Amino acid sequence: MNPIPMAQPDLSQAELDAVSQVLKTSYLSIGPRIVEFERAFADYIGVKHAVGVSSGTAGLHLCVIAAGITENDLVITSPFSFVASANCFLYERALPVFVDIDPDTLNVDPQQVEQAVHDIKHDNAQAKHWLPPSCRDRVMLDLPTQLKVILPVHAFGQPADMVKLSAIAKEHDLVIIEDACEAIGAEYQGRKAGQWGESAVFGFYPNKQITTGEGGMIVTNNETWYHLFRSLRNQGRDVFNAWLNHTRLGYNYRLDEMSAALGLVQLNRLESFLAKREQVATWYNERLKEISAVTIPYIVPEVNRMSWFVYVIRLAEEIDRNKVMDMLKEKGIPSRPYFTPIHLQTFYQDHFGYRPGDFPVTESVAKSVLALPFYANLSEAQVDYVCTTLNTVLNP
Ligand SMILES: *Cc1c(COP(=O)(O)O)cnc(C)c1O
Repeated sequence: MNPIPMAQPDLSQAELDAVSQVLKTSYLSIGPRIVEFERAFADYIGVKHAVGVSSGTAGLHLCVIAAGITENDLVITSPFSFVASANCFLYERALPVFVDIDPDTLNVDPQQVEQAVHDIKHDNAQAKHWLPPSCRDRVMLDLPTQLKVILPVHAFGQPADMVKLSAIAKEHDLVIIEDACEAIGAEYQGRKAGQWGESAVFGFYPNKQITTGEGGMIVTNNETWYHLFRSLRNQGRDVFNAWLNHTRLGYNYRLDEMSAALGLVQLNRLESFLAKREQVATWYNERLKEISAVTIPYIVPEVNRMSWFVYVIRLAEEIDRNKVMDMLKEKGIPSRPYFTPIHLQTFYQDHFGYRPGDFPVTESVAKSVLALPFYANLSEAQVDYVCTTLNTVLNP
């Protein structure tokens, strides 16, 4: 069997044609393609506005600015995620309030979010335990008003418990920004990821369900935020024709026309990609559910549509994951320990004083997870090969 890639985008002749057409025009940036892509994307998610940006990370950064986050503000989020979902508010010198995850869904645990909000809003003795260790003895101005945002991550394409999180946010006057970068098309209780927050962000890196190379999209129903996003991504210009008039501190976070053209074709094919990914996940589930050392992904019933981003199993505690990965690699099968907890990344340990043991559920999950090769065009024979090999490795 040929080596199997970890992930692989599906690019057809239509994508090649769309990009080369752009190259024959004089608009390589700020042209008609991005407008079209944004309109189609907003319609797909079911929101008023979409704003194309240069990456998911750039999109998250602009949402944090729109929410008015500044130095020492507090953002509640998950430590079990890709690092961008926490880095985005560090850019504005805000502080993470990590809340441990639910061991089944791998999303932030709403009960603990409620506890964190309660403690911080009432500024009681427990409040400072939610802060990063190195900040606990710092003199804070006013913890209750410093807490502004909840930033849930829809891990691996399964939406977080948005009903409970929305209720908490509403009760305490907090803003929700969804990191929906892994969850395009996913639905929680019939409502799409991206419809719940004040804004939400999607990412189009090549391993995502659809790709533009690099790129991302912010969606929102908030008119003020919409105009702010358009200005901020374009160097703080207020209107497009005031070319050298920079009203605010902005960035170059624009999405170019080649990427937008690629994204439009990919978006048109999204439903077929999601269906194929669903099929691949089902093939994996069927073959792996009987292996006792393997736990297959758990999807809560409230998630009426999963958008499979990666296929991640959990290995029993006594299994040596590195050895499994090495043995799979020898057979041409890549696999990844997906994710390393954010609070244990070197920068976060050095800067905020986090240590192993701070978020026990996240850490025990992180020790046992293994992502297997996963993409829309993975064949049943390839899934068979991965599963048979894994079974032999685990049960020699
Ligand atoms: C992919 C991803 C992002 C965005 O990544 P970019 O590479 O900046 O597009 C953000 N958050 C999560 C959870 C992601 O998986």
